[in-house]
Amino acid sequence: MCISRGGAPDPPRLKAHSFRRAAGRETHRAGSSRTNRAEPAVHEVSLAHAVWRQVTAEMEKHPGRRLMGVHVVVGALSGAAPELLEFALGLLVAESQWPQAAIDVRDEPVLLVCRGCGHEYPMDEMRLRCPACGSADIEPVRGTELRLESLEVE
Ligand SMILES: [Zn+2]
Repeated sequence: MCISRGGAPDPPRLKAHSFRRAAGRETHRAGSSRTNRAEPAVHEVSLAHAVWRQVTAEMEKHPGRRLMGVHVVVGALSGAAPELLEFALGLLVAESQWPQAAIDVRDEPVLLVCRGCGHEYPMDEMRLRCPACGSADIEPVRGTELRLESLEVE
């Protein structure tokens, strides 16, 4: 299936139950409301395909197992919108041989580390200097990537 604007004669059929299994938690971030939920951004669709390739590759190592859950971590600096990724992954899961699998996309806050003194601290605000030693030589050590965290199988 191709999720594109390519002039498909009928709109994509979305089954709400297939991608809302991990309900009870909503993620909202600024700017996401501009996006039509029925049409995930191309960026998240390609990311979802990349994650799904990892999932299927892992499942091939365990023949006969059923996929029950997919846990993905989306760093705050990863550039991906978690809710759109979850939506796009849900479409792939619904079409797969494991439509029962739940999608869980978790936000990961950014953790910074000072290369001067090694102090680690959360990026709760734009602090350009290490709060411990004042060095400006800081870098993010967590929250920059999107990764497949774990799979649940039975
Ligand atoms: Zn420091």
